[in-house]
Amino acid sequence: MNEQLPLLCYFEGKVVPLSEAKVGILTHAFSYGTGCFEGIRAYFNTEHDQLYVFHPLEHYRRLQQSAGILLMTLPFSPEQLVQKTTELLSGSGIRTDAYIRPMMYKADEIIGVRLHNLRSELYITVQPFGNYIDIDRALDVCTSSWKRIDDNMIPARGKITGAYVNSAFAKSEAQLSGYDEAIMLDNSGHVSEGSAENLFILRGGTVYTPPVTANILEGITRATIITLLREELGVPVVEREIDRTELYVCDELLLCGTGAQIAPVGSVDHRQVGGGGVGDLGRALQTLYFDVVRGNVPKYAHWCAPVYEEARQTNSEKPLAVAY
Ligand code: PMP
Repeated sequence: MNEQLPLLCYFEGKVVPLSEAKVGILTHAFSYGTGCFEGIRAYFNTEHDQLYVFHPLEHYRRLQQSAGILLMTLPFSPEQLVQKTTELLSGSGIRTDAYIRPMMYKADEIIGVRLHNLRSELYITVQPFGNYIDIDRALDVCTSSWKRIDDNMIPARGKITGAYVNSAFAKSEAQLSGYDEAIMLDNSGHVSEGSAENLFILRGGTVYTPPVTANILEGITRATIITLLREELGVPVVEREIDRTELYVCDELLLCGTGAQIAPVGSVDHRQVGGGGVGDLGRALQTLYFDVVRGNVPKYAHWCAPVYEEARQTNSEKPLAVAY
């Protein structure tokens, strides 16, 4: 990355240096959590000399849905937002892995809880970014004493800022008790998701993941993994309710998300999962996933939006060698 260039952001209608983007302390979303956001990753491919944004359109379509749930309308189409994002990344001169944070939020500086009749604004920030959690070892996780918020409380389907207090309760409880991460159950006692990750278990050659009705965020990594498991690794995937104790007896457990990427789990509530380390499926999936997100797999090149126009055209014909 060129250190001379300031990080640019889109803020309330203009492109400005990040240091100039400020909101007032009475901003509605700050007081009441009335915003929705996305976390998007971009991966730098040194061989291609190119930065690829992973699944940006899907993220902006989800932002559009979250905004609609909160009675807001995005000022641009998802396609236009992808364009703005690549311009911010290239304008900031980022040539390393990066993170993009768009947020649509209730911007009026007023007192009063509601969703309607409020001005809403959009920002998009970009920044260099590495791993969010350690994915080179198996994580020790717990089931949280905090229950996942229900669709009729704050819908997890919308990526709503205020809802992340629920995730923060679970994550801090887990980490302050010595675990790496928390898995939340929903009010029916079934497995929902991690604090910021969807979840997959492997049992007897089939992979299971909670359905979209289990108070989960409908993850883009989740959808990616379902495709890669079925299409490339030949592993059947079933979306169904998962019991807490299935986490104890499964062969492998994986957490996944844009931030977490693919994080294998070695124990749940002190019960060892599989061999306790990174399992064969987890390792195969990680290898394949990182090839895909870096734009090295031609079949999935359309999932990766290039940022720089004048990249070297060396798109390798790397075969999908990973077999499970
Ligand atoms: N669940 C929650 C609660 C999350 O915050 C995230 C991260 N966005 C995920 C799941 C994973 O979603 P995605 O793969 O779209 O990043």
